[in-house]
Amino acid sequence: MQDVLDETHDPTARSWVDSANDSATDFPIQNLPFGTFRRRGHDEPRLGVAIGDRVLDVYACIDGPRSVSELLAAPAEARAAVRLTLHRVLRQDANEGMRQFIAPHLLDFGSVDLLMPTRIGDYADVFGSIHHARNAAALMRPGAAFFPNYAHVPLAYHGRSSTIVESGRDVRRPRGQQRRRGAEGSDATVVYEPTRRLDYEAELGLFIGPGTTPGEPVGIDDAWNHVAGVCLLNDWSARDIQAWESDPLGPFMGKSFATTISPWIVTAEALAPFRVAAVEREGDLPPLLRYLDSADDRQRGALQIEVDVLLATAAMRREGAAPHLLTRTNAAGQFWTPAQVVAHITSNGSPLRPGDLIGSGTLSGVERSSWSCLLELTRGGREPITLPNGEQRGFLEDGDEVILRGRCVAPGARTIGFGDCRGRVVPA
Ligand code: CA
Repeated sequence: MQDVLDETHDPTARSWVDSANDSATDFPIQNLPFGTFRRRGHDEPRLGVAIGDRVLDVYACIDGPRSVSELLAAPAEARAAVRLTLHRVLRQDANEGMRQFIAPHLLDFGSVDLLMPTRIGDYADVFGSIHHARNAAALMRPGAAFFPNYAHVPLAYHGRSSTIVESGRDVRRPRGQQRRRGAEGSDATVVYEPTRRLDYEAELGLFIGPGTTPGEPVGIDDAWNHVAGVCLLNDWSARDIQAWESDPLGPFMGKSFATTISPWIVTAEALAPFRVAAVEREGDLPPLLRYLDSADDRQRGALQIEVDVLLATAAMRREGAAPHLLTRTNAAGQFWTPAQVVAHITSNGSPLRPGDLIGSGTLSGVERSSWSCLLELTRGGREPITLPNGEQRGFLEDGDEVILRGRCVAPGARTIGFGDCRGRVVPA
């Protein structure tokens, strides 16, 4: 099981790659996330692992998987074996011969392009935070009762994997059908126009590893055997398109124009020290059905991952200002755990395939400082936020860049991170 700690988690381990020992790096030797890169001027995408400010060309120097998709399809034990090999060849006590063999395959981040880690299969996005669900319900369906099914079933919508893009890719403001309120006294009209209410949603993405057989649900205690790792995910959302289309079948075109993910898959093994108790179900919430309930999941089913949302406008970049922190939240507060989500998604017999991606849902917590989209932060655009340079935002404007950063912090563990998940809005 991936939750067993071994020498790869030793918080005192250091690497002979100096930058991996920097306390601020996302990629110390305890992390070793997988991704796909291309050397500038070369065609061939390669399987890489991040270490400090370098990418190691994995296929060039160790036996094993040739691509992220092969790695995802492999059982958890095989993935853990690759991790252990990489840990040993990069650790400070690796012998001189090993270092000389590995060193030529370490490339500066600046000399490579990070690509989509793998071809994404099916993509679904869960409504995983009850705080986000309550805030969104109050803003988008004022006066209506809270969703009566929410605490029973991990609600989700199915998205389009073809529009998932890697960090750094521009996001074009989508056009779509919307219902516009008319001027005083005139009727609302339905138009096809660029969205005026473009938003982000800060989330995690779960990468599915080994697949399953159609017709065979995954038991909740088996679920982590099918989760290979985690990335950061921005579920860009056009609130006006979404509001008009969502009743009765849920979001579709308001979401399916772009979803940005961070370039590295932080493995289930690397996340083992950051598994914590799931949020307790308080108050008069209904009991869980058995397929969603497990003592193990209650005890350590949540992931302690701190996620920051930062915004940099075009004016801020011109002024040389640093991106402004809008939100800091923690994935440990999600109402539904990754294992519950996997158990639920397969509960009707729907199979998983390696490379499927499942969004956690917007990671909002109780406090305003943790609300993870502008819809919540600006109360539907009615209360714009003011940035340090005086600019205001109700929703995103062209030129705005949204940056997600994540880190895992726990007592007795080396802090690990994800690398940036960023995207800039360009005009329709
Ligand atoms: Ca979402």
